[in-house]
Amino acid sequence: MTTRTVEEVFKGRDTSDGAGVRLKRIFGYHQVPLFDPFLLLDEFGSDDPSEYVAGFPWHPHRGIETITYVLTGDVEHGDSLGNSGVIEAGDVQWMTAGRGIVHQEMPLGDADGVMRGFQLWANLPAAHKMTAPRYRDVSAGEVPEVEQGRGATVKVICGEVDGVTGPVGDVVIEPLYLDVSLGPGGAFDQRVERGLTAFVHVFEGEAAIGDRLVARGTLALLGDGDTVAVNAGEGARFLLVAGRPLGEPVAWGGPIVMNTREEVDEALEEYRAGTFLEEDG
Ligand code: MN
Repeated sequence: MTTRTVEEVFKGRDTSDGAGVRLKRIFGYHQVPLFDPFLLLDEFGSDDPSEYVAGFPWHPHRGIETITYVLTGDVEHGDSLGNSGVIEAGDVQWMTAGRGIVHQEMPLGDADGVMRGFQLWANLPAAHKMTAPRYRDVSAGEVPEVEQGRGATVKVICGEVDGVTGPVGDVVIEPLYLDVSLGPGGAFDQRVERGLTAFVHVFEGEAAIGDRLVARGTLALLGDGDTVAVNAGEGARFLLVAGRPLGEPVAWGGPIVMNTREEVDEALEEYRAGTFLEEDG
């Protein structure tokens, strides 16, 4: 049994996306293929609505899954499958774009103007890029919490912890997506099968992984091994995410991620021509 150690840390960079949403991109385009099967992680954190209310108006996706996890505030959404509603604190929206979806995501914040959350992009393998689009809305109450022996509270969004399985299943890359809170002096252990890509993103407090201290706002990409072990000094909260790498070529054009440049161009051309959502488009 080998415990995974920290291979590289990422602090992210401040950027703007959508119609002008300030966010921190923890990793993205320039890190391909380091996080395979994951493409991007954005962290949203603002108490100033002018930094996010412009939102992400109607735009297409193809070839990927987008996973939105809201910590604080509301996000209003709608999509071409006919879904619409509000994602609230603790809710998860797991969207499989497959061959095509057009949606909008409009952060509203909470009563104090605070908006916090994450969006993760997971790649789809070539064989599933043109699958039927699918949308899963998971409310906070559907996310099970597991108490571990040493001051760890684990929200299981996807994957399994101590025999408890998260509400999101049947995803090709077999992901693990956990939100872990550690009290002072707390410790957390989790099996993460050898060969899976795994990272820990600390968003509150400070965590120790092996002999490395990982500060708030820092992502630690982990080396290979069988288990992940995290210790907290004063307390910490972090995401643990893992998934099976695809090992396929990545052609990335904005919200479209395919295997070849031709497939990306074709998608963009279909979007312009208004045939993007057609099944034989
Ligand atoms: Mn989107």
